[in-house]
Amino acid sequence: MMKKPLAVAELNELVAGLQKLSRNLWWSWDQEAQDFFYELSPRGWQNLFHNAVAVLREVSEYELRVRLQDADFESHARGVLNNFNAYLNEPNTWGHHHAPQLHKNPVAYFSAEFGFHESLPISAGGLGILAGDHAKSASDLGLGFVGIGLFYREGYFQQAIDNNNWQTEYYNAVDPHNVPLEPVLDADGERLVGNVEIGMSVVDYQVWRVNVGRIPIFLLDTNLPQNEQHFRDLTTRVYGGDSTTRIMQETLLGIGGIRLLRALGIEPSTFHMNEGHAAFLTLELVREKLAAGKKIAEAYAATKQECLFTTHTPVEAGHDRFSPELMNYALQRYLGTLPVPLTEILALGRVNPQDALEPFCMTVLALKLSRAANGVSQLHGEVSRHMWHALYPSVPVEEVPIGHITNGIHLLGWMKGPVRKFWRKKLTNGGNGETALFRDKFGGNWAHALNSTEFWQKMTDPAFVSDEEIWALRYMLRRELLEFARRRLLYQSQRVTPGDYIRFDHLLNPDALTIGFARRFATYKRAPLIFQQFDSIVKLVKDKQRPVQFLYAGKAHPRDDDGKRFIQQIIHLSKHSDLTGNLVFLENYDVHVARQMVSGCDIWLNNPRRPLEASGTSGMKASCHGCMGFSIMDGWWREGYDGTNGFAIGPDSHPDSVEEQDRVDSANLYQTLTEQVVPMFYNRDAQGIPREWIKRIRNAMATLVPQFTTDRMVKEYAQKYYLTK
Ligand SMILES: *Cc1c(COP(=O)(O)O)cnc(C)c1O
Repeated sequence: MMKKPLAVAELNELVAGLQKLSRNLWWSWDQEAQDFFYELSPRGWQNLFHNAVAVLREVSEYELRVRLQDADFESHARGVLNNFNAYLNEPNTWGHHHAPQLHKNPVAYFSAEFGFHESLPISAGGLGILAGDHAKSASDLGLGFVGIGLFYREGYFQQAIDNNNWQTEYYNAVDPHNVPLEPVLDADGERLVGNVEIGMSVVDYQVWRVNVGRIPIFLLDTNLPQNEQHFRDLTTRVYGGDSTTRIMQETLLGIGGIRLLRALGIEPSTFHMNEGHAAFLTLELVREKLAAGKKIAEAYAATKQECLFTTHTPVEAGHDRFSPELMNYALQRYLGTLPVPLTEILALGRVNPQDALEPFCMTVLALKLSRAANGVSQLHGEVSRHMWHALYPSVPVEEVPIGHITNGIHLLGWMKGPVRKFWRKKLTNGGNGETALFRDKFGGNWAHALNSTEFWQKMTDPAFVSDEEIWALRYMLRRELLEFARRRLLYQSQRVTPGDYIRFDHLLNPDALTIGFARRFATYKRAPLIFQQFDSIVKLVKDKQRPVQFLYAGKAHPRDDDGKRFIQQIIHLSKHSDLTGNLVFLENYDVHVARQMVSGCDIWLNNPRRPLEASGTSGMKASCHGCMGFSIMDGWWREGYDGTNGFAIGPDSHPDSVEEQDRVDSANLYQTLTEQVVPMFYNRDAQGIPREWIKRIRNAMATLVPQFTTDRMVKEYAQKYYLTK
């Protein structure tokens, strides 16, 4: 039967719906939505960083209308839009049941970076990714929640490696109209503009809104013609420039962010500072209260009641410190609006308020003006209590008021497409009556099922998923990673001298045990540690029966030459005749590279200098793909590892001396690798299946996946902090 052509009104509605959908990052964790944009323009989807807005701009509206006359395509679009609208309008969320008060007075979550998706590269690393995942889960849970951040026009840098294996940086301007952003308008439909006193000037900002499912994130942007050029450039780059840029960006974030919320008529119940960068917001809250007639002591107390602080690192350089001169310079005009002397403000950022030489520390300000504070894993909570004990001299260290909530990841967002489809198929027609769990307990809601412990406990049941199926999945994911890496390396090699040209089709082995390492190249993460045992590693790599191969990726901060030397070292080794083709470095680590690597590798290597990895999250992204952790007992792994669900490097303790630590850790690393990891991976039965290995994968899925999600994490924040005063 011939299908009736769509009427103009119907087409208009579909097109408008798709436009709206493209500007909501919900599509970044919905498989059918992604499939739709892929189908619309397969190459466009691939080449435009999987960006729905860019794909819709690539395809003319005329083409879209023509395509929608295809009945299958139309019904695909309708299905996606129905799911999208059902998600937006769901009345029965966790938030409705457990946190209804937050709908009127939401949590305002301030973060200097948000990492949502590769199409919007405004994050430098783990902190931003965590903020993005926090927002996605807050949306899924239906929490009253808004985010405040900065829009960095050039984002974080793009990485290229030069002929000396040295990292160089370049920047691509992000066109705000070509990414999932919307301009924020005022009541008259004009661009909303606010301002903040910075230095001796008043600097204007405009605002972009990122729709993350049900919740908005507002990004401030000073690139306005009325601002002096150096203020226009203030929001050009993530953590760009020197400490003057930094303090000015943080002034914009904290003070500008509060003013924006007021302008939008949002009345938060809690201001959550994700890391110390946002801590100037406390000064603005104090200023408001003083202006409303409160006494100074009351103003501090009331501000404290409203604020929460999450600290993210025990690494000293991770805590912003500004000299008194810089504070005076950057906040001069602003402080003129505050009836509090500079010395008193400076004291708020000092452990010892009497010490005029002590720099101003954003972490100290945040701790002093928050009702509660937390670290991001159990060990990090403990380390933080020691680190800041001097601020609370009257209590024993165990009573320092810094708790912990262990980080997590937004599971659906990190799960690779084929893996989403694999689990979904299992849930909906897995046979053996297993679908009853899905139907009865979760009402057919795939996202709820996916975040549940019940679902992942099924992974230990061979009747639900067989060893053969898991192994086939592993092979497919490893193959996808290898082909991705080969394409990338071919592209990378075109830029180096012809002599270095690598025969890319001989690169990497689809059957070999594949070890991945990808994260920021901060030196405490010790990327080259494993190669301290160089000769032994060469032996493992060259073993014909049981080969091992390594993929590395990561960016060093532009001013971190030690980190760049680590990159140089890894690339140098990758060109060593004994390792070439079995050790590769993928340039330009981002969310997309991360997803490829955490899904395709067999083992996720993590060897930070304990206890400096406050939590770590990349390993959490691996478990749902059947990639197992191989880690120092630091951060989240101390809580996740149970002896059966991955591999531990060394004991739950560490020597005091750094040199001793490096030596012991590299020896332990090598020992675990050769005595446990390699033999277990290659121990195959008559059918060629590594049964014991797969059993470990099952344990990892059952115990780690549902535990280390932002679904669990955001619920904890709500119950422990957002809903209690
Ligand atoms: C997950 C992620 C990180 C954080 O990884 P860690 O293990 O915490 O270091 C950093 N960058 C990107 C792009 C990520 O996806």
